[in-house]
Amino acid sequence: MQIAIDGPAGSGKSTIAKILAKNLGFKHIDTGAYYRWVTYRVLSENVNLQNAAALIRTAEQTDFAQIDETKIRSKEVTENVSTVSALPEVRRCVVAQQRLAARGSDIVMEGRDIGSVVFPDAELKIFLTASVEERARRRYQELLDKGEKADLAETQKDIVERDRKDSMRHASPLRKVDDAVEVDTTGLTIEQVVEKITEIYKE
Ligand code: C5P
Repeated sequence: MQIAIDGPAGSGKSTIAKILAKNLGFKHIDTGAYYRWVTYRVLSENVNLQNAAALIRTAEQTDFAQIDETKIRSKEVTENVSTVSALPEVRRCVVAQQRLAARGSDIVMEGRDIGSVVFPDAELKIFLTASVEERARRRYQELLDKGEKADLAETQKDIVERDRKDSMRHASPLRKVDDAVEVDTTGLTIEQVVEKITEIYKE
C-alpha cells in the first residue's frame, strides 16, 4: 500500500505523514530530506551552485542512508534546496533512491511529486494545502521552537519564494494531480487533519 502526500512548504506534510505512518504501521519516507541532504553536501563541499554537472555528480555520489537530520534544516540549506532540486538529472537520481527505499514496504511518502512522478499508481494520493499566512505562521513557530531567531514577514516571503520556484520549475513542478484528494488544513489542528485523511483512507 502506498500513500502519497504532496503539498507546498508549511502545509503540514511531515507532521501529518509521520503520525499517519505510525498509526497505520507503515514506513514514513520524507523525500524533501533527500533533496536537502544533497544540498547540504553541495554547500559543505563548496560545490558551485551554478555548475549543474557538479551538482549532478554530487547527487550521484550521495549516500542517502547517511541523511543527518541535524544538518538538513538550516536556513542555508532551505534557501538553496530549490536550485538543486530543479535539475532533472538530480531528480532522476534522487527518485531512484526513493523508490528503492520504499521497496517491499507499506509506505506513507511525502513531498512535491510523489503522486505525479515517484508513485503515480499510489492507492491514495493527498494534496495538502493551507493559506500562505497559516503556512508562514507554522514555519515561524517551528523556528522559534528550535530556539532560532525568526521574523514572521520574512518567513512568509521565504515560503512564497520557495513555492514559486518549486511550482514554476520545468522538472516535476509542484501540482495537484487529478486523482489526488485536496485537504485544506487552514484552521485545522493536526489531529483533525489526521482524522480527515484516515477517514479518506478507510473509504
Ligand atoms: O519538504 P521540504 O520543505 O523539506 O522540501 C525541501 C525542498 O526539496 C522543496 O522546497 C523542493 O525544492 C524539494 N523537493 C522536491 N520534491 C520532493 C520533495 C522536496 O523537489 N518530492
